[in-house]
Amino acid sequence: MVADHHATHTELPAWRSVVAAMPVPAALVDRNGVMVAANRWIEVEPGQALVRPLAEAVSKGLVFGADGTTRWRVRPVDPDAGVFLATTEREDTGDHLIRRFYSTGDSLFVVYDQSGHVIESNQAWEKLLGYSHDEVFGLDSWTLLPPDDVRTRVEVEQSLRTRGRAEPTFHMRRADGTYRLVRWALHFDTAVGRCFGIGRDVTEEHRLAAELHRRATTDELTGLANRATFLEALSAALEEGHDPAVLFLDLDHFKVINDSLGHAAGDELLAALGARLNALAVSADSVCARQGGDEFVVLLADGSEERAIAAAEETLEALTLPFRIADRSLRLHMSIGISYATADHRDPDRILGEADTAAYEAKRQGRGRYVVFDRELRAAVDRRFEVEAALRRALDGDELEVHLQPIVRLPGGGVVGAEALVRWRTGRELLGPGAFLDVAEEAGLMPDLGRLVVDRAIEAGSELRRRGRPMYVTVNLTAAELVEPDVVDVIARSLARWELPARDLVVEITESTVISADRVLPTLHELRALGVRIALDDFGTGFSSLAHLRELPIDVVKIDRSFVWDLVDDEVTRAMTGSLLHLCDAMGLDVVCEGIETTDQAAVVERLGGTLGQGFLFHRPMPIDELLALVTRPTGSRVHDTSLH
Ligand code: C2E
Ligand code: MG
Ligand code: MG
Repeated sequence: MVADHHATHTELPAWRSVVAAMPVPAALVDRNGVMVAANRWIEVEPGQALVRPLAEAVSKGLVFGADGTTRWRVRPVDPDAGVFLATTEREDTGDHLIRRFYSTGDSLFVVYDQSGHVIESNQAWEKLLGYSHDEVFGLDSWTLLPPDDVRTRVEVEQSLRTRGRAEPTFHMRRADGTYRLVRWALHFDTAVGRCFGIGRDVTEEHRLAAELHRRATTDELTGLANRATFLEALSAALEEGHDPAVLFLDLDHFKVINDSLGHAAGDELLAALGARLNALAVSADSVCARQGGDEFVVLLADGSEERAIAAAEETLEALTLPFRIADRSLRLHMSIGISYATADHRDPDRILGEADTAAYEAKRQGRGRYVVFDRELRAAVDRRFEVEAALRRALDGDELEVHLQPIVRLPGGGVVGAEALVRWRTGRELLGPGAFLDVAEEAGLMPDLGRLVVDRAIEAGSELRRRGRPMYVTVNLTAAELVEPDVVDVIARSLARWELPARDLVVEITESTVISADRVLPTLHELRALGVRIALDDFGTGFSSLAHLRELPIDVVKIDRSFVWDLVDDEVTRAMTGSLLHLCDAMGLDVVCEGIETTDQAAVVERLGGTLGQGFLFHRPMPIDELLALVTRPTGSRVHDTSLH
């Protein structure tokens, strides 16, 4: 330990030579009183105890040696490195020797009297602070402290009075008016009534330490606190007995911005966003940090639910103003999750994790909003995890079934096609897609699920054809499934395997599916090139753009059931549906009216010129065997008809 310190201490060789030159027994000892170097007057070997005990030695300045008889005077040389000077207490050691000893090296050496006036100093004062020996002599050393430093003197004097020593670090004014930070080891020698000190310039050391600290605690890009600092502040707030609240802010669609404008613009945007968020978190107890990527966190050290909600609303409000980046005006949206500590809920990681989960939930609910993490959400999250795990197992086993709902000709009700709808048989329950599709979507299971449904649907189509009742089958595909690079291949292979003509397969998509990913449109064209037909599902909800009817590669439009349900009572809906049917007819598109439940609805659809319908009035979704039985029943059999007309 001692050896290490000595090896790194640059001033030690100088002290060694001074010790060697002293005309009296003198030695350097470590903080345990063990001899490190000594002059020829001392017979003790290096490594052996010379004086004891050192703590006492330094405070008293005078102790008996390890041999129990010799009296040593001990002074700190470099307390940081644990080096002390021990000389025998003899009159002729003289202050001049001590001064000579301390005149070397870069450390400040001072002896001052009880009133604080300097009696002795070394050359380092000139080197480090720019004062000549004469200027320092008689100086009240306290006058060199910054005017606003009122505490140091009080503390030092108190420590010297009670402990006989002090180790303060304070700024000292140089002759040129600038300041240096000096760490002092002072001890008050009661025997002579003087204070004896050695000081070391630690300005650079501190600057470096501060810079290291800054780097370790802040996020380079935004200058905000980083995740580690944030967690520390959160833990501190919890330990101090506050009930902190955490806001987790997740930027919506940042990837799109990054991909389209480039990373430099993305960085610039994050920095601008960080500055705006930081400006919001101005109260004394709040901390705004960048969690990483496009995620930010805000801590309200004392945050009630109301306060957190107010902060979330304020943040969403602040984002309504656009950002100006790369010559563009960008409007950002964030999803915000809120979580807060309660008396029995005080784990910082968990609080942060829950805020994250709540933000995710906000995103799920449609972005640009906030969600508070509560018991309900915890239950929902737990349930979602359970469902996800069970769904993975279901995909491997045979719990997933494909039911088919007939599409019928109007009037008459002859079955012309069937929509494949996924079902999940868990125990005795048969779950509809509403219970698990969003989980599948989030867990990235849609491509697997899609492959399964497509293959079963095509198999069913092939079976119907084999049994003499060919009809088309439709499958619903989402963006997640349509962006799979091999989706067209998978469908083509399945068609080939079951020997179903591509014409008998219809892929149902929604307008939002096409809009959500660039890759969807080319895929639709490829599918159409194969001969597969495309249906625009749920028309009348969402975008309902007539332009889409013209621009998208579609063959069929399915009018949403919400439209159909209004037909009977609402004249406007009736008029619109009538026009839509005409328009589609003129464009050569087939139209299926979905969700027909009553004969009245069917009658209106027919009156408006609708020729195809689907709904509980005609048939509910059913397993393939039931459909086969239905369409091959002698009475149920109709004229062979595979076209939509
Ligand atoms: P969708 O494509 O619009 O399918 C029609 C939905 O309406 C089906 O619900 C069907 O059972 C229901 N429906 C049919 N006729 C009536 C009616 O007269 N009254 C009422 N109230 N409902 C009727 P389901 O099976 O629950 O499916 C819901 C949605 O889930 C589907 O809407 C579709 O978007 C999606 N979906 C179903 N199966 C799959 C699948 O295998 N893959 C994908 N990606 N999505 C699927
Ligand atoms: Mg559909
Ligand atoms: Mg639909």
